Amino acid sequence: MTPEAALPRCLRFRGGKLEMEGVALASLAEKYGTPLYVYSWGDVRRRIASYQEAFAEFGVLVAYAVKANPNLCLLRRAAAMGCGADIVSGGELDRALRAGISAERIVFAGVGKSRTEMAAALRAGIRLFNVESIPELELLGSVAKEYGTKAPVAVRVNPDVDPRTHAYVATGKKESKFGLDIRAAIEAYRAASAHPNLDPIGIHCHIGSQITSTGPFVKAVEKIGRVIRELRGLGIEIRFLDIGGGLGIRYQDETPPAPAELAAAVKPFLKASECRVILEPGRSIVGEAGVLLTRVHYVKQTPIHRYVIVDAAMNDLLRPALYGAYHPIWHVEGKEGRPETTCEIVGPVCETGDFLAKGRVMPLPVAGDLLAVGSAGAYGMAMSSNYNMRLRPAEVVVDGGQASLARRRETFEDLYRCEEVAEDE
Ligand SMILES: *Cc1c(COP(=O)(O)O)cnc(C)c1O
Repeated sequence: MTPEAALPRCLRFRGGKLEMEGVALASLAEKYGTPLYVYSWGDVRRRIASYQEAFAEFGVLVAYAVKANPNLCLLRRAAAMGCGADIVSGGELDRALRAGISAERIVFAGVGKSRTEMAAALRAGIRLFNVESIPELELLGSVAKEYGTKAPVAVRVNPDVDPRTHAYVATGKKESKFGLDIRAAIEAYRAASAHPNLDPIGIHCHIGSQITSTGPFVKAVEKIGRVIRELRGLGIEIRFLDIGGGLGIRYQDETPPAPAELAAAVKPFLKASECRVILEPGRSIVGEAGVLLTRVHYVKQTPIHRYVIVDAAMNDLLRPALYGAYHPIWHVEGKEGRPETTCEIVGPVCETGDFLAKGRVMPLPVAGDLLAVGSAGAYGMAMSSNYNMRLRPAEVVVDGGQASLARRRETFEDLYRCEEVAEDE
């Protein structure tokens, strides 16, 4: 496949120059500097809509997984489309509410919710606590009692299915830390239904991320369906079926199913459940909608490798270092006539693990070139850090041919914000 053929829908080359929704990426790099994240709102909107349409008959709540990309500008726009939020911390609760996502559209997952986080979510009145252990259930019950309320609960079931993805993002196998196996989950439901401050109204599973076929989802939902029936036999009426997120995107040559294909595959089980469906997509909403623009500092030839040293690094985009992940990389302009070479695309951070691409065959980059790292909209900026005292990049959102700054580049001042040392010490 040629690199151009792999371009996501929001990107195209015109006259040899890479554009997002008709906006020249080179002009954004000029205006806002690099490294720079750029997102296509048009693409994000289309993907949210495709989930909403594909699952419409199940009264679906699309609870966008905030952790994939918590940018407030994107969240606000998603909220306006009726999106909910899947949150995993008090920080994400605050952010989702601030973005205008109504509490009844928020679901809260995570193996380590604190008392403080539970209290905040109860006060806000969220839709569902996705509980992952018996001790968590007990704590939630006691916090709800303190507040004189009833916590809406789903137990996160670990259905023990192999999502056939990277080991670090497989969450629904029996050896994983997430959820409860089916027997333990049923015990948790019994405990919840006996508790005056717990209301077991839902069931949850999320089996992993970057899943590129419907098979694992079908297996999981089928198992969950059996649990729902068993629970109904016990007089526990499950009304919300939350099947999590996890649909993959294209980084290299994957062909992940579209939301409509996923819906078609799991439909019989969703129908039989008679539940309202909740989805928690993250990556498949924002992943392909984002690029990271980076400028080539130097090209350094060693006896072994050609190192292309760029101004973005693992602190800006961790996925290659963390997962050995592949991201497509395109010249934003001026690649014509360059010979194809094999390059190591690396950042300035002092770690051998600091690379964006290894052994990449591409038109020879030279100093000053602008490159676009593709499929960087999910788990990109979200996982960024200040390692090596690097300033985190700015973020720009493109909508209908207009680009606007969604988050400014950090300054050195920002790096001192939380520290106690007085300046004259
Ligand atoms: C991370 C996560 C998601 C989102 O996963 P994607 O692969 O980004 O769709 C959804 N639900 C839970 C519980 C998660 O932890």
